[in-house]
Amino acid sequence: MPAYKIHEHTFDMVVVGAGGAGLRATFGLAQKGLKTACITKVFPTRSHTVAAQGGVAAALANMGEDDWRYHFFDTVKGSDWLGDQDAIEYMCREAIPAIIELEHYGVPFSRTDDGKIYQRPFGGMTTRYGEGPPAQRTCAAADRTGHAILHTLYQQSLAHDAQFFIEYFALDLIMDANGACRGVLALDMAEGTLHLFKAQGTVLATGGYGRAYFSATSAHTCTGDGGGMVLRAGLSMQDMEFVQFHPTGIYGAGCLITEGVRGEGGILRNSNGERFMERYAPSVKDLAPRDMVSRAMTMEIREGRGVGDHKDHILLDLTHLGPEVIHEKLPGIAESARIFANVDVEKQPIPVIPTVHYNMGGIPTNYHGEVVQLKNGNPDEVVPGLYAIGEAACVSVHGANRLGSNSLLDLVVFGRAVANRAAETVKRDGKQATLASDACDQALARLDKLRNANGGTPTAVIRDKMQRTMQADAAVFRTGDTLRDGVTKMREIHASFADVKVSDRSLIWNSDLIETYELSNLLDQALVTIVSAENRTESRGAHAREDFPDRDDANWQKHTLCSVNERGETSIDYRPVHMYTLSDDVSVVPPKKRVY
Ligand SMILES: Cc1cc2nc3c(=O)[nH]c(=O)nc-3n(C[C@H](O)[C@H](O)[C@H](O)COP(=O)(O)OP(=O)(O)OC[C@H]3O[C@@H](n4cnc5c(N)ncnc54)[C@H](O)[C@@H]3O)c2cc1C
Repeated sequence: MPAYKIHEHTFDMVVVGAGGAGLRATFGLAQKGLKTACITKVFPTRSHTVAAQGGVAAALANMGEDDWRYHFFDTVKGSDWLGDQDAIEYMCREAIPAIIELEHYGVPFSRTDDGKIYQRPFGGMTTRYGEGPPAQRTCAAADRTGHAILHTLYQQSLAHDAQFFIEYFALDLIMDANGACRGVLALDMAEGTLHLFKAQGTVLATGGYGRAYFSATSAHTCTGDGGGMVLRAGLSMQDMEFVQFHPTGIYGAGCLITEGVRGEGGILRNSNGERFMERYAPSVKDLAPRDMVSRAMTMEIREGRGVGDHKDHILLDLTHLGPEVIHEKLPGIAESARIFANVDVEKQPIPVIPTVHYNMGGIPTNYHGEVVQLKNGNPDEVVPGLYAIGEAACVSVHGANRLGSNSLLDLVVFGRAVANRAAETVKRDGKQATLASDACDQALARLDKLRNANGGTPTAVIRDKMQRTMQADAAVFRTGDTLRDGVTKMREIHASFADVKVSDRSLIWNSDLIETYELSNLLDQALVTIVSAENRTESRGAHAREDFPDRDDANWQKHTLCSVNERGETSIDYRPVHMYTLSDDVSVVPPKKRVY
């Protein structure tokens, strides 16, 4: 192997990712006086968080009755009892100060007439422990909430003393012989130079892996690089079978039409013009949680009530909302519908279809953001020096199904939690043990191998096969037969990576090499996802098995842990769901049938 020169940097904490989660952690850590680096493959304000539309949940009660305990209840129920109730309590209680903090940082929220933060209804958000009317809980900046939040967080980051390494691509974690994370190896994509970031703590805030699927609302950069690095380090990912399909992706284009549209009164209609959600969720109708709406739409299409030449999609009707609501509350949607569906939303409905949107699964953590693993019988063993937050993580607050507007919340709450935790456990300029001289060898060998990969299959060909297989076989509805078939295909596709061809041998702006790294991260996670899905023989939240239509708490109220080795062999284990709370302010919500 040729010698690679490595530039070394030493920080107290290094954050990988500059989306909502990474930025909140970065300036929080700097604020605590820790020497902090933030590495990001795209410019911070181009992270996928910028695309978030609908809003961020917090029980502020600005527009009607609300209580954070109702939010807690809704989130547990929304998770189909797979969420950890201690973490959910933490998130819903902290939501209120977290949003006030965002307001003080300068997020330009939409306002009520009396100047308070505007809040809209969102799916699954109710009052009085599910017995009352829908809650207006989702704080919004028109339909561009993520844009508003991300830009504000970046401004705050610049006001603090954190160092940014922009357009640096993190390749691999550097783990020591005791299983502790000691930092990360990254490539400066513009210069083609290698950088070792040594740190007492490494925070993965790398976002989701939606691009394992053919049609996804997420950006092309959402390739789950953090999860890929974690799996390569021999650690497990959690609950990967739970993939959220958003009911309203634009048919054909895949871009998102926010749930906020239904929050503002938009209605889904089938080919008979019928508001079919009345049949599936009589009380909340179009504002049922996403897993239920996606299944209802799929049923309508299967039963021949889809629209269009192929009767393969559904219509989202906002024509009755009137120009004022559309201009004031949903301007971005009107624009997306015009550009991507050639539709004037004031006059015509938007063609939509359930589209991959969010990964409930991820790197397992506790509510401090510390990565945990099952070790020597302890399901909550902390991996020293490693943290994960945001969509990359599985805390687990979303369980089997995330409620809309709980992700932006999760970013800021747990971004802040990591900073608080590190302030207790990490010392400024704390001494770091010397790294073994071969600490980077494995990561370098991999770089050298991929850069010189001279097989017969271009990266794009393998990626396309993976995306189509996941789309077909790990879909809204799943059965044992298609899942088994999908697992066999995914194992073959995973193995075909050995034959990958990279044409560009340089290190400078080598997008071929970067895409190959991203593909390998996606492949590991796609395999783990479909294997976990085949293994779970029940239906819960977003995981709907036609051969096992019911939830089976006796056997399956547990988190899946799945890992994969370099030969592509997977192994599965479990962690218990935390059925306890942090305080007596709320009581554990016992499992019951999930109806709306
Ligand atoms: C279209 C859309 C609309 C949404 N709307 C809402 C909404 O209204 N409300 C809500 O609650 N949720 C919403 N969501 C979900 C939510 O926006 C995302 O889950 C969330 O923004 C993810 O944030 P993140 O900080 O975890 O990651 P991201 O914002 O995806 O950022 C990932 C960061 O990691 C960096 N990175 C990744 N890999 C590497 C690497 N190898 N090396 C260096 N850097 C790396 C990237 O550069 C980037 O900075 C929406 C999602 C989408 C796709």
